Amino acid sequence: MIVILHPDLDENSEAFKQAWDFLTNRPNIQIKKHIVKGQHQKLTELYLIGDTKQLNQEVIEGLSAVDRVVRISDACHILGRHKDDQRVVGFDYNGIHFDQDNLHIFAGLCAVDNREHVEIMMRLLKENGQSCTRMGAYKPRTNPYSFQGHGKACLPYVFELAGKYDIKIVAMEITHESHIDEINECLEQTGNPTGVMLQVGTRNTQNFELLKAIGRQSEFPVLLKRGFGITLNESLNAAEYLASEGNSNVIFCLRGMKTSFASPHRNMVDFTHVPVIKRLTRMPVCIDPSHSVGSREASPDGILDVFHATAQGVIAGANMILADFHPAPSKALVDGPQALRIEELPYFLEDIQIAREAYEKRCRLVSRTT
Ligand code: PEP
Ligand code: MN
Repeated sequence: MIVILHPDLDENSEAFKQAWDFLTNRPNIQIKKHIVKGQHQKLTELYLIGDTKQLNQEVIEGLSAVDRVVRISDACHILGRHKDDQRVVGFDYNGIHFDQDNLHIFAGLCAVDNREHVEIMMRLLKENGQSCTRMGAYKPRTNPYSFQGHGKACLPYVFELAGKYDIKIVAMEITHESHIDEINECLEQTGNPTGVMLQVGTRNTQNFELLKAIGRQSEFPVLLKRGFGITLNESLNAAEYLASEGNSNVIFCLRGMKTSFASPHRNMVDFTHVPVIKRLTRMPVCIDPSHSVGSREASPDGILDVFHATAQGVIAGANMILADFHPAPSKALVDGPQALRIEELPYFLEDIQIAREAYEKRCRLVSRTT
């Protein structure tokens, strides 16, 4: 059960104390307090866990501090959508708004290799009107002898160049909670020229201690990749770990499922789940066509499989695209074979626009016919 208090209610007020005392005195009920800071108001949500069947909803709604009560039926208390749920969808970060209706593109390097390539990529993004990117610093690799990413050594030039080219958000995976401090320190040292979205990679979707550590901070939003070999519900529970610790600024990323049936693609593309996640949760949905497809193969129509997969996600309503680009794919230290070439960026953006317009047209059609 979620008890939503009146906006901007002071925790020292009599009304708050009365509601808190009433709820904490219910037997076999635990309370988790969750603060949602919006642009215009602060909301306090109380998540009641345990034997909630015994609770009388009308009595709780009668408390003067309480705005409304939502009964929940599934595991995703915070991020899920529930009956009569009017909680907001989406969040703002560093001047950029994310929700389930808009679309942002994060094109960039799978792994940062050198300053020159970062600069070429960021300049190109600016020239093409983009304000977000991906830049991998900490890379989880299958083989311990493969390049592991430059880690904190590359952060100063990545952040400085992001500032120089007006990039507002850099998405980067972290594999250990100490990386949050490294990112924070470097942002401070460089004068906060940009923002960071923390990425949880598919190998870490169920690394619960990492999820809890990332959830305990609410400075950076989180891009959670779906686990490559677990059920959708298990991945949604992983997202809820972030929220239950306090950070509900979470975007859920589809990146394909690992199965030999996916061959010749690297993973089985799962973008038909875009609308499913929107229906089940309030998270914006990202697609990663690069790690799904894993190659630069094209079909006889001349269109690369990565472009086809992207269009399939966008026409289904995706809200974010994470895509690998590289100025010299043959020299890339990680995932060169799937990287798009920088000269393909304008064409990629235009192709996305076509799919997005088709999606918007489909929405107008359904609103006319229902
Ligand atoms: C990545 O995006 O760089 C990455 C490693 O992705 P995934 O965790 O989906 O394999
Ligand atoms: Mn990669």
